[in-house]
Amino acid sequence: MTGDPADRAAADFFWDRVVNHHSYVTGGHCDHEHFGPPDQLNDRLSDDTTETCNVYNMLKLTRHIFGWRPESRVADFYERALLNHIRSSQHPDGRVIYNLTLRQGGTKSYQLKYDWFTCCMGTGMENHVRTRMASTFTTPTVSG
Ligand SMILES: [Zn+2]
Repeated sequence: MTGDPADRAAADFFWDRVVNHHSYVTGGHCDHEHFGPPDQLNDRLSDDTTETCNVYNMLKLTRHIFGWRPESRVADFYERALLNHIRSSQHPDGRVIYNLTLRQGGTKSYQLKYDWFTCCMGTGMENHVRTRMASTFTTPTVSG
C-alpha cells in the first residue's frame, strides 16, 4: 500500500505466521485475545477462541496479499475464514459474536443490540456487507 518493500515483507510475514501457524480450521485465531505457541492449537479450545474482529482484519490483509500475489492458497484462506467464521458470527436478527467458541459443546453467545458494545460489534456491522463483497473477490484473468 505504501510501496515500501519492507512494509510488504512485514505484511507477508505476519500473514504467513497467522494463517499457517496460529489459525484454527475455521480460519479464526487467538484464545482469550492472545496468540499462543505456534502450531499448538489443540490445547487452546475455550469459550473465548477466535475473536471476530481478528478475522475481520485478517480478511482485509488477505485482500491486499491477494492483490500482490493472486495465489489459490491466499484465496482459500479468505474463503475458509469468511464462510466458517464471519458468516457464522452473524445472527439473522443482526446481532454478532465477540468470540466464536471452538470448545467442544460450546454455544454461540451473541451480543446484545443496545446494552453491550465491543470491538467485534463495530467490525461486525461491516461483516454483513463483507460477505456480499466476496462476490467481487475474483481471480484476475491472465491474458496471453
Ligand atoms: Zn473484537
